[in-house]
Amino acid sequence: MDTLEAQVLQTVYGWDLWVLLASIVLIWLAESIWPIHPERTLMARVRHFGVNLSMWIGVIVVLSLMFGNVTQNAGLVSAHLGIGLFNLLEFPFWLKAVLGFVILDFGDFLFHRLSHNVRWMWLLHSVHHSDTQIDTSTILRNHPLHFVVILACKIVVIVAFGIPFVVMILRDIAWLPLATLHHAAIRIPTRVDRALRHVFVTPSMHRLHHSPNAEYTNCNYGSVFSLWDRLYGSYRNPEEAPRQPYGLSALSAPSWQSFWGLLKMPFAARKLPNL
Ligand SMILES: [Zn+2]
Repeated sequence: MDTLEAQVLQTVYGWDLWVLLASIVLIWLAESIWPIHPERTLMARVRHFGVNLSMWIGVIVVLSLMFGNVTQNAGLVSAHLGIGLFNLLEFPFWLKAVLGFVILDFGDFLFHRLSHNVRWMWLLHSVHHSDTQIDTSTILRNHPLHFVVILACKIVVIVAFGIPFVVMILRDIAWLPLATLHHAAIRIPTRVDRALRHVFVTPSMHRLHHSPNAEYTNCNYGSVFSLWDRLYGSYRNPEEAPRQPYGLSALSAPSWQSFWGLLKMPFAARKLPNL
């Protein structure tokens, strides 16, 4: 680990969690001021937030028990052993950070596509897609087992490329506010969204991805850059689609929309014919 890398790690370690929480609080407040769905009552929003938050807390418990600091150690061990592409070649830290950021973003894009195309991964990912009231808290709504699979894949990428752990934290710090904004139920001027879409995934792009209509569910997989969807032919312009509802038709019943309903969803919903 070079000096600059060590200094950056010392500065940003642990920031990712606080950036996520601050983004959610700020965007939740913005949703109160500029709501895209003014018909949602405060009580309904708080209840919805509580269910999604409970899934996030469940994720943390499972991750702490199963993984501990494995991802951190994967980056440190690969650096110590000198394995992974970045450790075999001489790279300045800033270049590792830029390349690592792009590789992790492309990895997220591929993982997201797989999560829609491999049946058992889709059953896990459907917990996220089953949200019928997309808002900032939807980013917290993931099945613990889906997160375990995401982390396992990230460890493989980190070790294969020798991506420093600090780059993963930096990428999360940059990506988490954007990912939180993707689900935000706030009004964003069309011309701003349109301009940003040339480079970044925007809320309108990602909201279309949360449509129950398969034509739109299976598009706009990107995390940060819209480039990957454009390259792989899965980009859909949200301005060319009619306004869509959210969620998945097979999983919209209230019995699925609770902590226990979401926890059992990947197993209980596996035989549903229209999922
Ligand atoms: Zn998806």
